[in-house]
Amino acid sequence: MRQPRIAIVGAGIGGLGLALALLRRGIVPQVYEQATQLGEIGAGISVSPNAVKALADLGLGEALRERADEPPRQRTCHFQTGATLIDIDRSDTVQRYGAPYYQMHRADLHGLLVERIRALAPEALSVGRTLTDLRQHHDRVELTFESGSPASADALIAADGWRSRVRSLVFGVPEPQFSGYVAWRGLVPMERLDDPTLASGSRVSIGPGRLFVHYPVRRGRLLNFVAFARTGRAEIESWSQRGSVSEVAQTLADFHQGVHAILAATPDGQCHKWGLFARAPLPQWTSGRVALLGDAAHPMMPWFGQGAASALEDAVVLARCIVAADDLQHTFARYQDARLARVTMVHNESLQGGERLAGARPDLMSPATVRNEDTLGLFSYDPVTTPI
Ligand code: FAD
Repeated sequence: MRQPRIAIVGAGIGGLGLALALLRRGIVPQVYEQATQLGEIGAGISVSPNAVKALADLGLGEALRERADEPPRQRTCHFQTGATLIDIDRSDTVQRYGAPYYQMHRADLHGLLVERIRALAPEALSVGRTLTDLRQHHDRVELTFESGSPASADALIAADGWRSRVRSLVFGVPEPQFSGYVAWRGLVPMERLDDPTLASGSRVSIGPGRLFVHYPVRRGRLLNFVAFARTGRAEIESWSQRGSVSEVAQTLADFHQGVHAILAATPDGQCHKWGLFARAPLPQWTSGRVALLGDAAHPMMPWFGQGAASALEDAVVLARCIVAADDLQHTFARYQDARLARVTMVHNESLQGGERLAGARPDLMSPATVRNEDTLGLFSYDPVTTPI
């Protein structure tokens, strides 16, 4: 039987996850990425057990064990006193959810995906290819790029992120709304910090309208932080806009000393700022020969750390559907049926997450009232065995 010609637009974690899931099932896709070099931003990422199950299916279980950090506990703390409000023991994560919980540098996760794809089929990756337009025909989809020759495929999977060009061309979705929150991120070399306890475990300090998350990455050599604050002033939605540590310190002036020690140790140029924009869940992800995946399909808010996890789940489920069904219509129908309800639930929850965390009165936060990834049951999902 002829191999399906699958084009993937976008070489982020989602697009590369799908490419590797297909390659491991004997299908060589073609990935088109707008950047001239493959890479990810300097920031941390939580890789929850549901995502680790997807990555194990991609053959990356051992590599993750070697390169990622496994937090023994995750604490939610009072913003002023630093007192622990919720303490989650992560030591039994494998027994509870069937896979570990990791935190790591984004570039390391992205790099692992690139490395494996290059080892299997280097010709699958094309860079410097910005998709500008597409046309669907009864037997193919034609792709036009800003430069270089056009391409044709049996199916197009759009993994082109939260501002997806394909989504706006095919589904014409409305403009996103500023959520009322801004965020800052930074990476701090651990040797700049005096407190050795920072090298293990992960913490979120919550106060009214603001929160500060930090955890180690690169096996404890770097500390990743993200700060969030409610504001009336919209900021641009960009991962690369420079931020100022003194602005974060001022915004979190009444936070405990641990937060300020981390901010004071942040090197110049290592703080970035951006606005969080909310987008409603889409009622459908597929149309004809086109399907959406990852942030292009479900650009959720970051409160549950589930965006990339959901993209990796999509990747494994879609690859399974492509192999199992003998025509495109059934492939995409199965994919959407298998994924839409779960991800819409996570997406809707993510829209409320900011107010639940940063809007909370920290003194009232307790394990009985919290609504998080654990209590929502997100970690038990297995994209390898879920029915399709
Ligand atoms: P992207 O990573 O955005 O990749 C899209 C790719 O498409 C890019 O390489 C882009 O260059 C390319 N592209 C775009 N347009 C075109 C075009 N026209 N032609 C060709 N190429 C194109 N998720 C988690 O699971 N865990 C976390 O801990 C976590 N923390 C987060 C923290 C914050 C503060 C934020 C904002 C998000 C967080 N997320 C987290 C979400 C996660 O970052 C995203 O969901 C994930 O990166 C989405 O991957 P993607 O591949 O779908 O899209």
